[in-house]
Amino acid sequence: MEILIVGAGYAGLTAFLELKDHAVVTLLNEDPYHYFTTQLPEVVSGSEAPDNIRIDLDRVVGEPHRLVIDRAGEIDFAARRVVLRSGGLPYDYLILAPGSVPEFYGLKDVAREALVLTGLNDALEIRSRVSALPPGAGAVIVGGGLTGTELAAALADNAELRIFLLEAAPRLVPGFTPELSEYVERLLTRKGITIRKERMVTGLHPGELLLGDEVLPYDLLIWAAGVRGSPLASGLPADRQGRVTVDAFLHPPAHPEVYVAGDLAAMRFPGGETVPPNAQVAVQSGYWIGQNLPRRLRGEAEQPFGPRMRGIFANFGKAGAGRLGSRRTMVGLPAYWFKRLIEGHHALETGGLLFLLKRLWTSYH
Ligand SMILES: Cc1cc2nc3c(=O)[nH]c(=O)nc-3n(C[C@H](O)[C@H](O)[C@H](O)COP(=O)(O)OP(=O)(O)OC[C@H]3O[C@@H](n4cnc5c(N)ncnc54)[C@H](O)[C@@H]3O)c2cc1C
Repeated sequence: MEILIVGAGYAGLTAFLELKDHAVVTLLNEDPYHYFTTQLPEVVSGSEAPDNIRIDLDRVVGEPHRLVIDRAGEIDFAARRVVLRSGGLPYDYLILAPGSVPEFYGLKDVAREALVLTGLNDALEIRSRVSALPPGAGAVIVGGGLTGTELAAALADNAELRIFLLEAAPRLVPGFTPELSEYVERLLTRKGITIRKERMVTGLHPGELLLGDEVLPYDLLIWAAGVRGSPLASGLPADRQGRVTVDAFLHPPAHPEVYVAGDLAAMRFPGGETVPPNAQVAVQSGYWIGQNLPRRLRGEAEQPFGPRMRGIFANFGKAGAGRLGSRRTMVGLPAYWFKRLIEGHHALETGGLLFLLKRLWTSYH
């Protein structure tokens, strides 16, 4: 029996770690490592080394399991086969967790010109482009969510740039409470960042961003204005954000042999609201699949998946902001350390104690 996981991110790697003692699994990922997206802004700023946020998959995937480093091009759901650049991989059970891709809302020129921050290579690319800019150059970040605000702070703390942060909504980090959004705005303003809210990008000429009839010149343009589900599952029914429709057991319609996990799944909270793409629920979905597939293989009934958001945190240099549950908020140094604790926990779960200790040692020496 072939169990195949596509994607070794938060969802896929967690599913692998849960499954590995119960079944033989093939893990397919395009890079030979798992990386912590939540710390990419720190790699851009240089405050975290790339090796500290990357876990080599061959350290995690040993016999009898199989690691395949390649890019899945498409999936033949009828033939139960994932098509690779060279050949293909058959499956009896497929766990589909390739995450998201940037959403450009049809702005093709922007998609061609802008840098994005979705992976480790993107972080290193932004870092090298920033270091080549003269002092006083203009950097425009589009998107005032978690990624855009953390990135703006990372750049402001480490480069002499004029930074503009554009957000389409009336406040930054809409997932935060209004008070936390105001805190983030004050923090970023104090760092010298110019924040422009309720601004929509309508187009681009090289070196100039168009916001309706306003023109904003830039030397560096970074797009962090949203994501949509990976196009890998384009054969399956999906919502407007390209996220695959799933039932309470994370199966897409008519495919009980397929589980969709993480950002790619259009999951709902018990109250019916859509789950926003986030690492926490991605891990929960991977864990749930890792627990439920063995149950199913033993002939037992699966339990429905119930996503839960326990909180949301962001760091802006050495000050953080976040909320625990739906109401309790935390700011400043305590919030900063709380987020570091969450990241440390993920490092321990995925890379083991030695990796965690190495991270701590290199971070503080
Ligand atoms: C800069 C940044 C900061 C963020 N900060 C936070 C935060 O503070 N808190 C939070 O909760 N969330 C945060 N997020 C969102 C969070 O990272 C995602 O929600 C989470 O990574 C989703 O997990 P996933 O397993 O679905 O996908 P991912 O973690 O993205 O993993 C997908 C994996 O699949 C691989 N893959 C993709 N396509 C293919 C293919 N065709 N073939 C083979 N392999 C493939 C990728 O290489 C990757 O390893 C942040 C995201 C970014 C980009």
